[in-house]
Amino acid sequence: MTYACRQFYIDGQWVNPSAPREFKVINPATEEVAGVICLGNGEDIDRAVAAAKGAFPAYSQTTRDERRELLEHILAAYKARYPEFVAAISDEMGAPINLSRDAQAEIGVGHLAAMIDVLGRFQFEERKGNTSLILEPVGVCGLITPWNWPINQVAAKVVPALAAGCTMVLKPSEFSPFSAMLWAQVMDEAHVPHGVFNMVYGDAAAGAALSAHPDVDMVSFTGSTRAGVEVARSAAPTIKRVHQELGGKSPNVLLDDVDFEHAVRVSVLHVMQNTGQSCNAPTRMLVPADKLGVVEAIAKRIADGIVVGDPKSKSTEMGPVVSKIQFDRVESYIEKGIEEGAKLVTGGLGRPEGLSKGYFVRPTVFSNVRNDMIIAREEIFGPVLCILPYDTEEQAIDIANDSPYGLAAYIWGADAARARRVGNRIRAGRVILNGARGDMHAPFGGFKRSGNGREWGEHGLRDFLEIKALIGADAA
Ligand code: NAD
Repeated sequence: MTYACRQFYIDGQWVNPSAPREFKVINPATEEVAGVICLGNGEDIDRAVAAAKGAFPAYSQTTRDERRELLEHILAAYKARYPEFVAAISDEMGAPINLSRDAQAEIGVGHLAAMIDVLGRFQFEERKGNTSLILEPVGVCGLITPWNWPINQVAAKVVPALAAGCTMVLKPSEFSPFSAMLWAQVMDEAHVPHGVFNMVYGDAAAGAALSAHPDVDMVSFTGSTRAGVEVARSAAPTIKRVHQELGGKSPNVLLDDVDFEHAVRVSVLHVMQNTGQSCNAPTRMLVPADKLGVVEAIAKRIADGIVVGDPKSKSTEMGPVVSKIQFDRVESYIEKGIEEGAKLVTGGLGRPEGLSKGYFVRPTVFSNVRNDMIIAREEIFGPVLCILPYDTEEQAIDIANDSPYGLAAYIWGADAARARRVGNRIRAGRVILNGARGDMHAPFGGFKRSGNGREWGEHGLRDFLEIKALIGADAA
């Protein structure tokens, strides 16, 4: 199927761009054009922000119950279009159809359901003596999202912003516009009041215009640390709130008492899931030095068994990376790893056997990686695992924390209390013990250069609220 989305959703209408500039979206599995969009400019952003500003006075006064009901309508409309989301996500960024259905699209349901739950019990007002602390919507929000978990990132911003009573302009990634178009259609079908949700396609220039806009009170950005810095710079002169979900290079500490077969299998599959394009992927696996050989053998067997290929096939476990740029970037990191002297356990340069087109990368495992190597420090954002040996638990903790990032960390250990002790010492926004299942209510976000602020559940909602102290509340 080919898509055509040459319009933007502003003030409850699909409108033409002020100066049409076409952008072809390439299906990364076929290298063929999947569809065409138009990219917006500063004028389109101005128009969308004006709509959001106009809608704010009325929408910010809606009750919690009204907003909860709105989210329920959105959830129903989203579910009704579910198969289209599954197909669009797969076509635009190459996710295997099973992953698209069971995780990429499913997480949209997860965010909506979690927020409906949170909104039912959230306290927007709290009394402290003679003062009432009131949580109010922060205002007009600019939401800028990447392509790698496209609906997750849209939902993780739009849903709490709506729950808070904010109005917004979404600028999704130009590489994942089809799922965003469906999302805008769902907003329309659910009767989100005109101007509350607006969407403009665009590249970095549109993102910069949104970040700098004087009528935008908060910008929430997910993407690379590089662009996150630019967003903060653009936002600085207008003192808006800057919320950033950025990159990661998450450590995965395997303690010496663990079931290595299980921990390595789950961890390798996690790194390779979504073709390594997850900000929280456990890409630095820290293992006891005397277990290095055992771990390498398991990692090789699991990586070699991954079925790479056509995302439309039900047996495919790993699709392509999103674009030619991303393919070249990942290949250059694999080359750097080899040059730096890391041991290539499996994978390496070039497409996997039997695939002559598409941006497919070999599931790659490096071992004997030192933490000062480029492949251990920089986010590769591809299916590349680094295994690092350690001698003592203390050293493992030091290596885990020796990173500019602090998004997630993973700890495996048979002694649960010990695993938790180690986890407590890792500076990261999310620490996952022994492969625990995901939790839609647990906050998501990073320490250090992985960002500022949190998304998901109650903490995600709080970040879209502003606090007001009403002093003298006793007399009122
Ligand atoms: P990117 O930074 O290139 O683009 C992200 C978004 O920002 C896109 O919509 C893009 O058009 C826009 N943009 C780019 N430059 C901009 C600028 N100067 N000003 C304003 N907007 C700008 O990132 P990407 O390649 O789309 O996504 C991959 C990156 O996202 C990875 O580094 C990954 O770790 C990160 N990511 C982080 C999280 C998280 O929650 N921490 C989640 C997913 C992805």
